[in-house]
Amino acid sequence: MDSFGLHWDGEVAYQSRHGDRYDDIISDLQGHQLIYPCTCSRKELTENARENTLPDVYPGICRHRETIPHQPYALRIKTDSRSISFHDELQGLMTHQLAEQDGDFIIKRKDGIIAYQFAVVIDDELQQVNHIVRGFDLLEATPKQIFLQQLLGLATPGYMHVPVIVDGQGFKLSKQTQATAVDLAAPEQVLFGLLVLLRQTPPVELKRASVGDLLAWAIAHWRPELLQNKGAVSCGLIN
Ligand SMILES: [Zn+2]
Repeated sequence: MDSFGLHWDGEVAYQSRHGDRYDDIISDLQGHQLIYPCTCSRKELTENARENTLPDVYPGICRHRETIPHQPYALRIKTDSRSISFHDELQGLMTHQLAEQDGDFIIKRKDGIIAYQFAVVIDDELQQVNHIVRGFDLLEATPKQIFLQQLLGLATPGYMHVPVIVDGQGFKLSKQTQATAVDLAAPEQVLFGLLVLLRQTPPVELKRASVGDLLAWAIAHWRPELLQNKGAVSCGLIN
């Protein structure tokens, strides 16, 4: 981040220090019977999915369980029929039905780890985050997070989901797909290349600019409407 001229504006917040807050909220949700233990294994869910027409929707198998199970369990939150709508600054109006499209989702995993969806909502609140700009691959997580915000009485921040860079097969460049690491030795070239990928048409002179000047230009000239494909940009374009 430092190499790219990106500096944080406050103290670094550590998720590992938010454990008590997560637990308090979980107890609260438990008290209101909004969550329940789930012992379903991945295998059971996959088998169930094969017989089902909506494979990604949790079918609510454990929803009506009366007792706390003796084996390890995850915690799922009860979704309802409400429709979640939000205006994404780049993607436009998004509408989603959680109960139909996802079903009850996990907020604490069987291994005790707090699920991403749940942790970020609380972390964002603790840090008073009011704008979230992140990759398109997280767009589908947003309705779950807004649902949690609504349930917990928290404000919903503004969202903008920007395209992710994909390889020739359409996969997001990431460590998982063994993508080459970003060249920290030449941050200017990387930033210039990114502006090209994002169709921001940087002037050629900017190729020789410093990181600070590149960022200043990008902020002053940022025009998201120039993006043709709002979900993904191919790394082939960079050359
Ligand atoms: Zn279950």
